[in-house]
Amino acid sequence: MNNKRKKRKLNKKRIIFLVLFTILIIIIVYMFFSKPKNRNLKNKGYSNLEIVEIEKLTKSEINTILKYDYDKNLIYIIKSENYNPNKLDMYLKYTLKYKDVDYLKIFELINNENFVNKNIDDYVNLLKKYNNVESIIKYINNYNDSDVDLNEDILSIIGEKYFIDDYFDRYVNYYNKNKNLPLSEIITRVNAKLDYTFYDDSKEADLSKDMYTLVNKFYYLAENYIPDELVDVTGIYARDKAQLKKIAFENFVKMADDAKKDGLTIKVTTGYRSYNFQSILYNNYVKIDGVKNADTYSARPGYSEHQLGYSVDITNKNNVSFDEFENTDEYNWLQKNAYKYGFIQRYPKDKEYITGYVFESWHYRYVGEDIAKYIYENNITYEEYYEYFLR
Ligand SMILES: [Zn+2]
Repeated sequence: MNNKRKKRKLNKKRIIFLVLFTILIIIIVYMFFSKPKNRNLKNKGYSNLEIVEIEKLTKSEINTILKYDYDKNLIYIIKSENYNPNKLDMYLKYTLKYKDVDYLKIFELINNENFVNKNIDDYVNLLKKYNNVESIIKYINNYNDSDVDLNEDILSIIGEKYFIDDYFDRYVNYYNKNKNLPLSEIITRVNAKLDYTFYDDSKEADLSKDMYTLVNKFYYLAENYIPDELVDVTGIYARDKAQLKKIAFENFVKMADDAKKDGLTIKVTTGYRSYNFQSILYNNYVKIDGVKNADTYSARPGYSEHQLGYSVDITNKNNVSFDEFENTDEYNWLQKNAYKYGFIQRYPKDKEYITGYVFESWHYRYVGEDIAKYIYENNITYEEYYEYFLR
């Protein structure tokens, strides 16, 4: 009897122990397999919905998130198509540090390829006042030492198409004197050197640019410069005796042959012109018209593109005069097609203030198909193209 009771007691103890042990195991297993991060995220203040999104990230990303306080913008950031996991640490650090700045600006700033982490305070100070993130980065990275008066216009000029870093101070100077002009116009004018004076501020043309050499009122050719590889323009392609650089002539022939298929005749009146010939021409015009007028339509010796050998003056089968050429079918055809053969209209209408020459419907310059196409499609002058892409 006594023994039996003892045995029963012992069994009872054993059962209680086993039950407790099992519960303990279950708790340990639960603790082991349950998601402690989930609870940590909850403790940070993230809602269940937010946690669902966060848990789609990698372990290391979640660990990064746990390093920081609750960030109300986090979900927008990680779900953005521009989200970069390698920058998660910075997103969190700086959106939390600069809570008074729109997190999207901070996000864009950090994502920018030119963002430099150590400048963050400088960037953000400007971000509070201005919107153009790209320009702010450029400004801080390149012109922080410049003593210009900062304002929204100056900042956004940095983001303009064709903006050239080296010219920042010139743009700002020009802008300060011409505040009524659109910023794109400031860029155009400075790139075309209109903040300088024609002829007075000129220097020798850069012949290392080969067939892309720019000759205008800022770049001249030496008196003794004669291009090599000049070929005679003959037969049906010329009105008078003329010469051109070989490649320009070959492409002129293609162009003239295709124009012919459309029933049109284009002919060269002048191609290459020597320094001396230009000298005679120009001085004649000066005698008739005076320097000021002559300068608007005739190049001073050395400053004529014709001396390079890549330029052509064109007429049609009736040998119309230059002034009449604008009204011909040939002119219209060239307007639409010349670029396909590498020719650009060099002194277009409405660009007189850039090129320094009156509109010349008859004057074309060979620059190759790619450049001609770009200039045609973007409606810019060779001055602008050269300065931005070839300088
Ligand atoms: Zn010409």
